[in-house]
Amino acid sequence: MAATATSVVLPPLNWVESPNASARKPGVALDLIVVHDTEGGYQSALSWFSNRHSQVSAHIVLKEDGSEATQMVPYSNKAWHCSSFNSRSIGLEMAGFAKKGYGEHEWAVAARIVAFLLHKHGIPVRWAKNGQGSGFCRHYDLGAAGGGHHDPTSDDAVWQTFVNRVKHEVQRGGFRPEWGRH
Ligand SMILES: [Zn+2]
Repeated sequence: MAATATSVVLPPLNWVESPNASARKPGVALDLIVVHDTEGGYQSALSWFSNRHSQVSAHIVLKEDGSEATQMVPYSNKAWHCSSFNSRSIGLEMAGFAKKGYGEHEWAVAARIVAFLLHKHGIPVRWAKNGQGSGFCRHYDLGAAGGGHHDPTSDDAVWQTFVNRVKHEVQRGGFRPEWGRH
């Protein structure tokens, strides 16, 4: 586990623009990273978020095997992923299904991405439990105000393992200056 976690790097990042984006609300600080899962495949998520009729998007979508990711909304804009929390957050989608779970490498790369985003935006490295305060959390943590979803996992133990990985990645540091469009 440790060997894998220490060797993980940010994956190659593609760009596919989503029409489902808008300006962030002025005066609202960007202080939250929200992790989701697509409940579907990587390519279908890219298609769905590219379709203006879906009315949903995310900043970053990570492929199931962790080998690549796609950015669909610049960080400076609002992606439409967690309802009333959109203006203060960045959304990361893990491709896959909550019931099936996610592979070791996808978890490792997702932790590296969340760590980078926290570091880059000066956001405190803490689990924003129930969407309280700044940090990072699950879509599930946001409850009804976040749209009432249960992704990427409702298992607190599974999530706590991920929280520890993110903390480890922040401590390890060594981030590149930029990854993605602002
Ligand atoms: Zn979600």
